[in-house]
Amino acid sequence: MLNRIEGIVLKTQDYGEANKIVTLFSREGGKITAMARGAKKPASRLAAITQPFTHGSFLIQQGRGMGTMQQGEQLESYRHIRSDIEATAYASFVVELIDRAVDDRTPQPSIFNLLQQALHAISEEYDPEAIALFVEWKMLPVTGIYPTLHQCTNCGATEGEFAFSFQQIGFLCHRCFSIDRYIIRLTPAQVKLIRTFYTVPIEQVGKLTLKKETKTFIKKIVRTIYEEQTGIRLKTRSFLDQLDRSPEYFPKKENPSTSPEEGV
Ligand SMILES: [Zn+2]
Repeated sequence: MLNRIEGIVLKTQDYGEANKIVTLFSREGGKITAMARGAKKPASRLAAITQPFTHGSFLIQQGRGMGTMQQGEQLESYRHIRSDIEATAYASFVVELIDRAVDDRTPQPSIFNLLQQALHAISEEYDPEAIALFVEWKMLPVTGIYPTLHQCTNCGATEGEFAFSFQQIGFLCHRCFSIDRYIIRLTPAQVKLIRTFYTVPIEQVGKLTLKKETKTFIKKIVRTIYEEQTGIRLKTRSFLDQLDRSPEYFPKKENPSTSPEEGV
């Protein structure tokens, strides 16, 4: 049976002299793998279409077991992602996180949309660090984690000062601070920003201008949740950490967005 599938290449693995096993996230069928015969050879018509981050339409011959990719055509070229090292690093992180968090052959069109929007936003030169953070918060429920961010996890209060509790996986109000010794106190702006990452659409996040310290703070919280609750640790993180430690090698461009940080 020959199927036409819209998908984004998450990763490839060499197989034998000339072949690649391609992992795609497809719009309708979720994560699937297919054999791309000859794709390792630069002259192959499958070589370009099986590069990571390629969003394409693929023709897959499905038999018993793994399908075989017959041909593909590119639907969207994320040129900036391939040419800018910081964009490549964050896009690799997004793709690895989604690959690790989802199961094979489980249709999840909303995650396909998230992946497509994130790669598009990074390619459009929105702040890739903010986009990656957004994906991290948005993927928590996919891994079975539902942080309580709209109210206090303990008493349900929506007013007052808030702190983040890893024990409760969510906010605690000042009346309930004592139930967790290791809370992280939050300013009202930080509370608002965490809710923003978790709830608003990507276009709004893409337009935010965030200070480096703000992103680092929010990142520490979401990373700790992943490490403590899901056991997902990503290989691409260590490269991103190197980027953070050696900013002098990666000159900052002007951010295209203009809205101030307080405008969250
Ligand atoms: Zn409370």
